Amino acid sequence: MSLLQLEHVSHRYGNQRFLARQAEQTVLQDVSLTLEAGTCLGLLGRSGAGKSTLGRILLGLERPKAGRVLFNGQDIYDAASKDFRKDIQVVFQDSFAAVNPKLTAGQIIAEPLTNFLGLSPDALDERLGGLMTQVGLSKTDLTKYPNQFSGGQLQRICIARAIATNPKLIILDEAVSSLDMVNKALILDLLRNLKETLGLAYVFITHDVQAAQALSDRFMILDQGQLVGDYPTLRSFSEA
Ligand code: ADP
Ligand code: ADP
Repeated sequence: MSLLQLEHVSHRYGNQRFLARQAEQTVLQDVSLTLEAGTCLGLLGRSGAGKSTLGRILLGLERPKAGRVLFNGQDIYDAASKDFRKDIQVVFQDSFAAVNPKLTAGQIIAEPLTNFLGLSPDALDERLGGLMTQVGLSKTDLTKYPNQFSGGQLQRICIARAIATNPKLIILDEAVSSLDMVNKALILDLLRNLKETLGLAYVFITHDVQAAQALSDRFMILDQGQLVGDYPTLRSFSEA
């Protein structure tokens, strides 16, 4: 059984009354794909192709108008499988926008640990320290606020929060796209290490072919809501 399976997923925004006045806009059309545990799917496409919409659907934030999304064989929109929320996490492009500026790094990372795992204060402390080490920061950084970090450092905090609940899958939504070249390389390296040591799977949403190449095991191209290519390597992608 695949970790993640999309079956004929289609989506459009807006309600019926709105659509009566406006031409129906299909954002995703008949998208089917599977993702195996521990692998990274590079999801490439132009701006507006529907990549982020697909990401939101995988996070359970947007219910597709048609089709099914199965995680470990279970429909993620079934009431019974709400448990998947701790197993699928996300890292966004703009880490400064993604975090509450009034919380310390420790509070930001603790949020999913408290919500999903209900850790005791002692266990929480130990877990937070361990997570900081895993993302290449120090325990003393836990008391700092977002504006005391650089963009690259804050992205590490967001990655620590994303791996905190031991998820199986992380959606990387343009997660390295606004970093400078050095930080991009360092964060890609960190993501590759975490994938290997934790057995993580990624859906790496990006328009950055080089970044996709650095991390992905497989590549798909989304164009105007449709999957138009599925490549085992970017060599075959560039030859296509
Ligand atoms: P990408 O991530 O590839 O840039 P998106 O999924 O963000 O693509 O957007 C795909 C299409 O859906 C675009 O035409 C966009 O304008 C539209 N869209 C995205 N989010 C919404 C929304 N919340 N309401 C209405 N239309 C949206
Ligand atoms: P790096 O390239 O090391 O990631 P950045 O260029 O992102 O560093 O950031 C340099 C400095 O500017 C950092 O010390 C950070 O605190 C600050 N900074 C960057 N972006 C923001 C932002 N959106 N809001 C507040 N401070 C920021």
